[in-house]
Amino acid sequence: MTLFEKIIARDIPADIVYEDEACIAINDINPQAPHHVLIIPRKVIPRVGDAAAEDQAALGALLLAAGKIARQLGVIDTTSGFRLVINHGHDAGETVPHMHVHLLAGRGLEWPPG
Ligand code: AMP
Repeated sequence: MTLFEKIIARDIPADIVYEDEACIAINDINPQAPHHVLIIPRKVIPRVGDAAAEDQAALGALLLAAGKIARQLGVIDTTSGFRLVINHGHDAGETVPHMHVHLLAGRGLEWPPG
């Protein structure tokens, strides 16, 4: 079982900020911004590059959830904003092989990212 499957199963505690039939969203344990939320599909897709056509709905659900969470956090108006990140593999710094979207917000975010 992946770490995130254990969180979804409530075997490991987490600060859940949103959930629906396709995904769950939790506050990152090591936040890199004032708001740092992980949006995790219930279906385990190890990495985004491993996703298949049958995962289309699950992948789309993550972005729809991101918009809802950003609205919930109040970071969707003209004076704020947010960034979505998906890390795939070694060079991107991926650590949990259960793909997820990072939602970062609450401060100015550098571009290009490091
Ligand atoms: P990634 O490096 O893209 O695979 O992202 C994994 C993220 O999971 C990191 O930002 C970690 O800080 C976060 N993380 C690891 N363990 C937990 C946990 N128990 N609860 C919440 N976030 C976690």
